[in-house]
Amino acid sequence: MVEVLFVGTGDAFGSGGRRNSAVLLRERNHTLLLDCGPSTLLGLKELGVDPLEIDAVAISHFHGDHVAGLPFLMLDYIYENRRERDLRILGPPGIQARIELVARSFEYPSEDWPFPVSFSEFDCNAVFSDGAFKLRPFPAHHQPETCPHMMRVETGGKAIFFSGDTGWHKELPERVGEVDLFICESTLLEEDFEYHLSCSRLQRERQRFDCRRMLLTHLGSEVLDNLEQVEFDITYDGLSLRV
Ligand SMILES: [Zn+2]
Ligand SMILES: [Zn+2]
Repeated sequence: MVEVLFVGTGDAFGSGGRRNSAVLLRERNHTLLLDCGPSTLLGLKELGVDPLEIDAVAISHFHGDHVAGLPFLMLDYIYENRRERDLRILGPPGIQARIELVARSFEYPSEDWPFPVSFSEFDCNAVFSDGAFKLRPFPAHHQPETCPHMMRVETGGKAIFFSGDTGWHKELPERVGEVDLFICESTLLEEDFEYHLSCSRLQRERQRFDCRRMLLTHLGSEVLDNLEQVEFDITYDGLSLRV
């Protein structure tokens, strides 16, 4: 049984007052954070989550609404919730340089952290194991310069697929595969942009996904303004469920 806590379920613009992308997975005594947008530390504290419980953070791609919160989390570990044990950070190739660059540009500590930090770069042919979690990245169809990835996480006998940000691509249903939960971005209501998914496209393709449960996240303003047209369950900040 894995607990899924949606810390942030909004798009890059904070539509509907939602926080940026962040999903916390808990299995026994292990905690994995998927994405860390700028509002993630705020969200963790608002939801009563001790940031120190996070064992590893996996970043889907380099858009700020998915990654720019990491320097804030690291700063919290230095001054507020002092961390001593290792923090593992997974992400697209170049993740370490990117995090250091973002932190440096904020004039935040960007290296020589006072706790061990280990970076691992995604390899789409490899499965990462961290504590109770096995994570496999897949390429996403999103702005290529952001090095976009989706992630399949297996833990506690369950499989969860997180789309990150992606537009439609014909391999998507096959890559998602058979999963207990598909956390799928739907920034748009209608299909009008290559690099994000829309409710209308997902409604047309729903039968092709072999998932027990599907939840839409990363919801944009047009979706939130027309929820009566959305034929899926949606996430909201603070939603907690067990898979
Ligand atoms: Zn995004
Ligand atoms: Zn993005």
